[in-house]
Amino acid sequence: MRILVTGGAGFIGSNFVRAVLADRFAALAGAEVVVLDLLTYAGTLANLTEVRDSPRLRVVPGDIRDAGTVAAAMSGVDVVVHCAAESHVDRSIEGASEFVSTNVVGTQVLLQTALEVRVERFVHVSTDEVCGSVETGASVETDPLEPNSPYSASKAASDLLALAYHRTHGLPVCVTRCSNNYGPHQYPEKLVPLFVSHLLDGRPVPLYGDGRNVRDWLHVDDHCRAIAMVAVGGRSGEVYNIGGGTELSNIELTRRLLGLVGVSEAMVERVADRKGHDRRYCVDWSKIRAEFGYRPQVEFDDGLRRTVEWYRRNRVWWTSTSPVAA
Ligand code: NAD
Repeated sequence: MRILVTGGAGFIGSNFVRAVLADRFAALAGAEVVVLDLLTYAGTLANLTEVRDSPRLRVVPGDIRDAGTVAAAMSGVDVVVHCAAESHVDRSIEGASEFVSTNVVGTQVLLQTALEVRVERFVHVSTDEVCGSVETGASVETDPLEPNSPYSASKAASDLLALAYHRTHGLPVCVTRCSNNYGPHQYPEKLVPLFVSHLLDGRPVPLYGDGRNVRDWLHVDDHCRAIAMVAVGGRSGEVYNIGGGTELSNIELTRRLLGLVGVSEAMVERVADRKGHDRRYCVDWSKIRAEFGYRPQVEFDDGLRRTVEWYRRNRVWWTSTSPVAA
Protein backbone atom coordinates (compact mmCIF):
# COMPACT_ATOMS: atom_id res chain seq x y z
CA MET A 1 0.00 0.00 0.00
CA ARG A 2 1.18 3.53 -0.75
CA ILE A 3 -0.10 6.51 1.27
CA LEU A 4 0.23 10.14 0.26
CA VAL A 5 0.39 12.39 3.32
CA THR A 6 -0.04 16.04 2.43
CA GLY A 7 1.42 18.35 5.05
CA GLY A 8 3.54 15.41 6.21
CA ALA A 9 6.25 17.74 7.51
CA GLY A 10 3.85 19.58 9.82
CA PHE A 11 2.73 18.72 13.34
CA ILE A 12 0.00 16.12 12.80
CA GLY A 13 1.14 14.93 9.37
CA SER A 14 4.68 14.16 10.55
CA ASN A 15 3.37 12.36 13.60
CA PHE A 16 1.22 10.22 11.29
CA VAL A 17 4.18 9.53 8.97
CA ARG A 18 6.49 8.54 11.83
CA ALA A 19 3.81 6.23 13.22
CA VAL A 20 3.14 4.53 9.87
CA LEU A 21 6.83 3.98 9.17
CA ALA A 22 7.28 2.57 12.68
CA ASP A 23 4.42 0.15 11.86
CA ARG A 24 2.42 1.40 14.84
CA PHE A 25 -0.85 0.82 12.96
CA ALA A 26 -1.17 -2.90 12.24
CA ALA A 27 -3.53 -2.41 9.32
CA LEU A 28 -1.01 -0.12 7.59
CA ALA A 29 2.08 -2.20 8.37
CA GLY A 30 4.65 -2.10 5.60
CA ALA A 31 2.97 0.82 3.81
CA GLU A 32 5.06 3.18 1.74
CA VAL A 33 4.64 6.90 2.39
CA VAL A 34 4.89 9.86 0.05
CA VAL A 35 5.01 13.23 1.82
CA LEU A 36 3.88 16.26 -0.20
CA ASP A 37 4.65 19.43 1.70
CA LEU A 38 5.39 23.01 0.73
CA LEU A 39 7.59 23.41 3.83
CA THR A 40 6.01 26.69 4.83
CA TYR A 41 6.98 28.29 8.14
CA ALA A 42 4.94 25.51 9.84
CA GLY A 43 6.55 22.54 8.13
CA THR A 44 10.11 21.32 8.50
CA LEU A 45 12.02 18.24 7.40
CA ALA A 46 13.43 18.18 10.94
CA ASN A 47 10.08 16.62 11.88
CA LEU A 48 11.00 13.61 9.72
CA THR A 49 14.61 13.19 10.88
CA GLU A 50 13.98 9.91 12.65
CA VAL A 51 12.50 8.30 9.51
CA ARG A 52 14.49 10.09 6.79
CA ASP A 53 16.53 6.97 5.95
CA SER A 54 13.50 4.73 5.60
CA PRO A 55 13.37 3.15 2.15
CA ARG A 56 9.58 3.40 2.46
CA LEU A 57 9.59 7.22 2.57
CA ARG A 58 9.65 9.65 -0.35
CA VAL A 59 9.45 13.39 0.26
CA VAL A 60 8.14 15.69 -2.45
CA PRO A 61 8.60 19.35 -1.59
CA GLY A 62 5.73 21.07 -3.37
CA ASP A 63 2.41 22.85 -3.34
CA ILE A 64 -0.97 21.12 -3.16
CA ARG A 65 -2.32 23.94 -5.36
CA ASP A 66 -0.08 22.88 -8.22
CA ALA A 67 -1.89 20.24 -10.30
CA GLY A 68 1.28 18.95 -11.97
CA THR A 69 3.10 18.48 -8.67
CA VAL A 70 0.06 16.80 -7.14
CA ALA A 71 -0.37 14.42 -10.09
CA ALA A 72 3.28 13.35 -9.86
CA ALA A 73 3.08 12.85 -6.09
CA MET A 74 -0.20 10.92 -6.29
CA SER A 75 0.90 8.51 -8.99
CA GLY A 76 0.55 4.92 -7.72
CA VAL A 77 -1.03 6.06 -4.46
CA ASP A 78 -3.83 4.01 -2.83
CA VAL A 79 -4.72 6.25 0.12
CA VAL A 80 -4.51 10.02 0.59
CA VAL A 81 -4.33 11.48 4.09
CA HIS A 82 -4.77 15.20 3.56
CA CYS A 83 -3.27 17.22 6.42
CA ALA A 84 -1.76 20.16 4.51
CA ALA A 85 -3.35 23.44 5.50
CA GLU A 86 -2.84 26.90 6.79
CA SER A 87 -3.83 26.08 10.34
CA HIS A 88 -3.46 29.04 12.69
CA VAL A 89 -6.60 31.04 13.52
CA ASP A 90 -4.71 34.21 14.48
CA ARG A 91 -2.93 34.32 11.14
CA SER A 92 -6.26 33.92 9.35
CA ILE A 93 -7.57 36.97 11.20
CA GLU A 94 -4.59 39.00 10.01
CA GLY A 95 -5.01 37.85 6.42
CA ALA A 96 -7.24 35.14 4.99
CA SER A 97 -6.16 34.81 1.37
CA GLU A 98 -3.56 32.06 1.92
CA PHE A 99 -6.19 30.18 3.92
CA VAL A 100 -8.69 30.24 1.08
CA SER A 101 -6.03 29.46 -1.47
CA THR A 102 -4.38 26.52 0.32
CA ASN A 103 -7.29 25.12 2.27
CA VAL A 104 -10.00 25.46 -0.36
CA VAL A 105 -8.26 25.58 -3.76
CA GLY A 106 -5.50 23.18 -2.69
CA THR A 107 -8.05 20.66 -1.43
CA GLN A 108 -9.98 20.88 -4.70
CA VAL A 109 -6.80 20.18 -6.72
CA LEU A 110 -6.13 17.12 -4.57
CA LEU A 111 -9.71 15.85 -4.87
CA GLN A 112 -9.72 16.24 -8.65
CA THR A 113 -6.40 14.43 -8.99
CA ALA A 114 -7.55 11.68 -6.62
CA LEU A 115 -10.55 11.17 -8.87
CA GLU A 116 -8.38 10.90 -11.97
CA VAL A 117 -5.86 8.58 -10.29
CA ARG A 118 -8.73 6.54 -8.76
CA VAL A 119 -7.41 6.38 -5.21
CA GLU A 120 -9.12 3.89 -2.92
CA ARG A 121 -9.51 6.28 0.01
CA PHE A 122 -9.21 10.03 0.56
CA VAL A 123 -9.16 11.09 4.21
CA HIS A 124 -9.76 14.80 4.54
CA VAL A 125 -8.39 15.84 7.94
CA SER A 126 -10.60 18.60 9.30
CA THR A 127 -11.34 20.19 12.63
CA ASP A 128 -14.05 20.56 15.27
CA GLU A 129 -13.83 24.32 14.65
CA VAL A 130 -16.03 24.01 11.54
CA CYS A 131 -18.95 23.31 13.89
CA GLY A 132 -18.56 26.67 15.61
CA SER A 133 -18.91 27.51 19.26
CA VAL A 134 -21.15 25.26 21.36
CA GLU A 135 -22.01 26.62 24.81
CA THR A 136 -23.34 23.28 26.03
CA GLY A 137 -23.57 19.72 24.72
CA ALA A 138 -21.55 18.39 21.80
CA SER A 139 -21.59 18.74 18.01
CA VAL A 140 -22.60 15.67 16.02
CA GLU A 141 -21.43 14.94 12.49
CA THR A 142 -24.74 15.96 10.92
CA ASP A 143 -24.97 19.37 12.59
CA PRO A 144 -24.94 22.35 10.22
CA LEU A 145 -21.50 23.93 9.89
CA GLU A 146 -21.19 27.28 11.65
CA PRO A 147 -17.55 28.35 11.36
CA ASN A 148 -16.63 31.74 12.79
CA SER A 149 -12.98 32.43 11.90
CA PRO A 150 -11.57 32.72 8.38
CA TYR A 151 -9.53 29.58 9.21
CA SER A 152 -12.53 27.50 10.19
CA ALA A 153 -14.60 28.90 7.31
CA SER A 154 -11.92 27.79 4.85
CA LYS A 155 -11.83 24.35 6.47
CA ALA A 156 -15.63 24.11 6.34
CA ALA A 157 -15.54 24.99 2.63
CA SER A 158 -12.99 22.24 2.04
CA ASP A 159 -15.10 19.72 4.00
CA LEU A 160 -18.06 20.50 1.77
CA LEU A 161 -15.95 20.17 -1.38
CA ALA A 162 -14.65 16.80 -0.21
CA LEU A 163 -18.17 15.55 0.48
CA ALA A 164 -19.36 16.98 -2.85
CA TYR A 165 -16.67 14.95 -4.67
CA HIS A 166 -18.10 11.87 -2.99
CA ARG A 167 -21.74 12.65 -3.80
CA THR A 168 -21.10 13.88 -7.34
CA HIS A 169 -18.32 11.58 -8.50
CA GLY A 170 -18.33 8.72 -5.99
CA LEU A 171 -14.81 9.56 -4.78
CA PRO A 172 -14.24 7.44 -1.63
CA VAL A 173 -13.89 10.37 0.75
CA CYS A 174 -14.02 10.38 4.55
CA VAL A 175 -13.86 13.59 6.58
CA THR A 176 -12.46 13.62 10.12
CA ARG A 177 -13.12 16.46 12.57
CA CYS A 178 -10.81 16.43 15.54
CA SER A 179 -10.56 18.54 18.65
CA ASN A 180 -7.42 20.44 19.75
CA ASN A 181 -4.23 18.42 19.52
CA TYR A 182 -1.16 18.68 21.70
CA GLY A 183 2.14 16.82 21.55
CA PRO A 184 5.71 17.14 20.28
CA HIS A 185 6.72 18.86 17.01
CA GLN A 186 3.94 21.48 17.11
CA TYR A 187 5.05 24.84 15.77
CA PRO A 188 5.38 27.28 18.69
CA GLU A 189 2.56 29.61 17.76
CA LYS A 190 -0.27 27.42 19.10
CA LEU A 191 -1.14 27.64 22.78
CA VAL A 192 0.72 24.66 24.26
CA PRO A 193 4.09 25.03 22.48
CA LEU A 194 3.93 28.84 22.61
CA PHE A 195 3.35 28.85 26.35
CA VAL A 196 5.85 26.09 27.07
CA SER A 197 8.61 27.74 25.03
CA HIS A 198 7.96 31.11 26.68
CA LEU A 199 7.96 29.60 30.16
CA LEU A 200 11.14 27.62 29.53
CA ASP A 201 12.73 30.91 28.47
CA GLY A 202 11.48 32.71 31.60
CA ARG A 203 9.09 34.88 29.62
CA PRO A 204 5.42 35.64 30.44
CA VAL A 205 2.63 33.92 28.53
CA PRO A 206 -0.12 35.90 26.79
CA LEU A 207 -3.54 34.61 27.89
CA TYR A 208 -6.50 35.77 25.82
CA GLY A 209 -9.45 37.55 27.47
CA ASP A 210 -10.83 36.01 30.66
CA GLY A 211 -9.08 32.69 29.96
CA ARG A 212 -12.35 30.82 30.17
CA ASN A 213 -12.58 29.61 26.58
CA VAL A 214 -12.89 25.84 26.67
CA ARG A 215 -11.21 23.28 24.40
CA ASP A 216 -11.06 19.49 24.33
CA TRP A 217 -7.37 18.49 24.34
CA LEU A 218 -6.37 15.28 22.61
CA HIS A 219 -2.85 13.88 22.25
CA VAL A 220 -1.69 13.85 18.62
CA ASP A 221 -0.99 10.09 18.87
CA ASP A 222 -4.69 9.46 19.55
CA HIS A 223 -5.68 11.66 16.62
CA CYS A 224 -3.33 9.81 14.27
CA ARG A 225 -4.58 6.41 15.44
CA ALA A 226 -8.13 7.53 14.67
CA ILE A 227 -7.06 8.79 11.21
CA ALA A 228 -5.53 5.36 10.52
CA MET A 229 -8.79 3.65 11.55
CA VAL A 230 -10.78 5.83 9.19
CA ALA A 231 -8.24 5.37 6.38
CA VAL A 232 -8.61 1.60 6.65
CA GLY A 233 -12.26 1.10 7.53
CA GLY A 234 -14.11 4.38 7.09
CA ARG A 235 -17.32 4.39 5.09
CA SER A 236 -17.19 6.59 2.01
CA GLY A 237 -19.03 9.88 2.27
CA GLU A 238 -19.03 9.78 6.07
CA VAL A 239 -17.80 12.33 8.59
CA TYR A 240 -16.12 11.10 11.78
CA ASN A 241 -15.70 13.30 14.83
CA ILE A 242 -12.57 12.57 16.86
CA GLY A 243 -12.51 13.73 20.47
CA GLY A 244 -12.59 12.38 23.95
CA GLY A 245 -9.61 14.27 25.25
CA THR A 246 -9.72 16.44 28.33
CA GLU A 247 -11.98 19.48 28.41
CA LEU A 248 -10.22 22.43 29.99
CA SER A 249 -10.52 26.20 30.01
CA ASN A 250 -7.44 28.01 28.77
CA ILE A 251 -6.64 29.24 32.28
CA GLU A 252 -6.87 25.68 33.65
CA LEU A 253 -4.54 24.44 30.93
CA THR A 254 -2.18 27.35 31.57
CA ARG A 255 -2.03 26.49 35.29
CA ARG A 256 -1.07 22.91 34.45
CA LEU A 257 1.72 24.16 32.18
CA LEU A 258 2.95 26.56 34.87
CA GLY A 259 3.05 23.64 37.30
CA LEU A 260 4.94 21.39 34.88
CA VAL A 261 7.56 24.05 34.16
CA GLY A 262 7.67 24.97 37.86
CA VAL A 263 6.79 28.68 37.73
CA SER A 264 4.07 30.81 39.31
CA GLU A 265 0.91 32.47 37.99
CA ALA A 266 2.82 35.75 37.95
CA MET A 267 4.07 34.58 34.53
CA VAL A 268 0.55 35.01 33.06
CA GLU A 269 -0.04 38.23 31.16
CA ARG A 270 -3.67 38.94 30.30
CA VAL A 271 -4.04 40.25 26.74
CA ALA A 272 -7.04 41.50 24.73
CA ASP A 273 -9.23 38.66 23.55
CA ARG A 274 -8.91 37.22 20.05
CA LYS A 275 -11.47 38.72 17.66
CA GLY A 276 -14.53 36.48 17.35
CA HIS A 277 -13.02 34.02 19.85
CA ASP A 278 -15.16 30.88 20.00
CA ARG A 279 -16.11 30.09 23.58
CA ARG A 280 -16.17 26.33 23.48
CA TYR A 281 -15.77 23.46 21.03
CA CYS A 282 -16.92 19.97 21.82
CA VAL A 283 -17.57 17.06 19.48
CA ASP A 284 -19.61 13.95 20.11
CA TRP A 285 -17.32 11.07 19.12
CA SER A 286 -19.73 8.17 19.72
CA LYS A 287 -19.80 7.31 16.00
CA ILE A 288 -16.09 6.51 15.66
CA ARG A 289 -16.21 4.70 19.01
CA ALA A 290 -19.14 2.54 17.83
CA GLU A 291 -17.66 1.76 14.40
CA PHE A 292 -14.00 1.20 15.31
CA GLY A 293 -13.83 0.90 19.08
CA TYR A 294 -11.80 4.11 19.11
CA ARG A 295 -11.09 5.73 22.43
CA PRO A 296 -8.18 7.93 23.49
CA GLN A 297 -5.29 6.04 25.06
CA VAL A 298 -3.02 8.85 26.22
CA GLU A 299 -3.87 10.00 29.73
CA PHE A 300 -3.84 13.81 29.68
CA ASP A 301 -1.52 14.62 32.57
CA ASP A 302 1.01 12.07 31.37
CA GLY A 303 0.76 13.24 27.75
CA LEU A 304 1.17 16.88 28.77
CA ARG A 305 4.12 16.11 31.04
CA ARG A 306 5.86 14.23 28.20
CA THR A 307 5.10 17.09 25.81
CA VAL A 308 6.68 19.67 28.12
CA GLU A 309 9.68 17.34 28.49
CA TRP A 310 10.00 17.10 24.71
CA TYR A 311 10.17 20.90 24.41
CA ARG A 312 12.64 21.04 27.26
CA ARG A 313 14.91 18.51 25.52
CA ASN A 314 14.45 19.89 22.00
CA ARG A 315 15.21 23.57 22.44
CA VAL A 316 17.17 23.58 19.19
CA TRP A 317 14.06 22.46 17.31
CA TRP A 318 11.88 25.28 18.57
CA THR A 319 14.48 28.01 18.66
CA SER A 320 15.40 27.33 15.03
CA THR A 321 11.77 27.26 13.87
CA SER A 322 10.21 29.68 16.29
CA PRO A 323 8.80 33.15 15.68
CA VAL A 324 9.25 33.67 19.41
CA ALA A 325 12.92 32.76 19.53
CA ALA A 326 14.99 35.29 21.38
P1 NAD B 1 0.58 22.52 10.72
O1 NAD B 1 0.38 23.97 10.45
O2 NAD B 1 1.50 22.08 11.79
O3 NAD B 1 1.09 21.81 9.38
C1 NAD B 1 0.58 22.11 8.11
C2 NAD B 1 1.54 21.55 7.07
O4 NAD B 1 0.98 21.83 5.79
C3 NAD B 1 2.92 22.19 7.13
O5 NAD B 1 3.91 21.18 7.06
C4 NAD B 1 2.96 23.07 5.90
O6 NAD B 1 4.26 23.21 5.34
C5 NAD B 1 2.03 22.31 4.96
N1 NAD B 1 1.44 23.17 3.93
C6 NAD B 1 0.85 24.39 4.11
N2 NAD B 1 0.44 24.87 2.93
C7 NAD B 1 0.75 23.94 1.98
C8 NAD B 1 0.57 23.85 0.57
N3 NAD B 1 -0.02 24.85 -0.11
N4 NAD B 1 1.01 22.76 -0.06
C9 NAD B 1 1.62 21.75 0.62
N5 NAD B 1 1.82 21.78 1.94
C10 NAD B 1 1.39 22.85 2.62
O7 NAD B 1 -0.88 21.95 10.93
P2 NAD B 1 -1.35 20.74 11.85
O8 NAD B 1 -1.64 21.25 13.20
O9 NAD B 1 -0.45 19.59 11.67
O10 NAD B 1 -2.75 20.42 11.18
C11 NAD B 1 -2.87 19.46 10.15
C12 NAD B 1 -4.34 19.37 9.74
O11 NAD B 1 -5.10 18.97 10.87
C13 NAD B 1 -4.92 20.70 9.28
O12 NAD B 1 -5.73 20.46 8.16
C14 NAD B 1 -5.74 21.19 10.46
O13 NAD B 1 -6.83 21.93 10.00
C15 NAD B 1 -6.16 19.87 11.07
N6 NAD B 1 -6.42 19.91 12.53
C16 NAD B 1 -5.47 20.41 13.38
C17 NAD B 1 -5.71 20.38 14.76
C18 NAD B 1 -4.68 20.89 15.76
O14 NAD B 1 -5.00 20.99 16.94
N7 NAD B 1 -3.46 21.20 15.34
C19 NAD B 1 -6.91 19.86 15.24
C20 NAD B 1 -7.85 19.36 14.35
C21 NAD B 1 -7.58 19.38 12.99
